[in-house]
Amino acid sequence: MLPTVALVGRPNVGKSTLFNALTRTRDALVHDQPGVTRDRHYGVCRLQEDRPFVLVDTGGIAGDEEGLAGATARQARAAAEESDLVLFVVDGREGPSALDDEILSWLRKSGRPVLLVVNKVDGIDARQAENEFARYGFEDVVQTAASHRAGIDELLDDVYARL
Ligand code: GDP
Ligand code: MG
Repeated sequence: MLPTVALVGRPNVGKSTLFNALTRTRDALVHDQPGVTRDRHYGVCRLQEDRPFVLVDTGGIAGDEEGLAGATARQARAAAEESDLVLFVVDGREGPSALDDEILSWLRKSGRPVLLVVNKVDGIDARQAENEFARYGFEDVVQTAASHRAGIDELLDDVYARL
């Protein structure tokens, strides 16, 4: 079985853009099968041929009556539970938010390894953006600009170091 890596984070931080960059698809590999939860999209990253892994994109369905925070937290937890590694994606332009804090606390409860991905660092001071998240206490942080395919190789290196 291939290892599984989940993209988790609040809406609009760039999870699906990262998913597309890593799987080189536009949802071409999304499974529409019974038993596969509709709020998660599955693809395979084959950027390094000999080390494919399953990638899970979360947050495809907006929160309804339970609200955005509840839906995001539930998806974060479900994705973490079925994954070997979680990529916690945040927005380097906006800095940390209350919802980020909440998602991270869910992820920590899952006990899974978590890698912090600070996305959208194109055109800004990436180091300063990373510093905004210092209180989360991650030793290794990856900076990406998914929409420009920037930082993808570094991200892959960090993923493979943990799988
Ligand atoms: P998701 O809700 O977390 O899946 O976020 P999306 O992947 O749908 O991206 C939300 C918006 O952010 C879209 O308009 C993307 O084009 C944009 N976006 C994603 N990655 C980047 C990035 O690295 N830099 C910038 N400037 N915009 C980005
Ligand atoms: Mg998305």
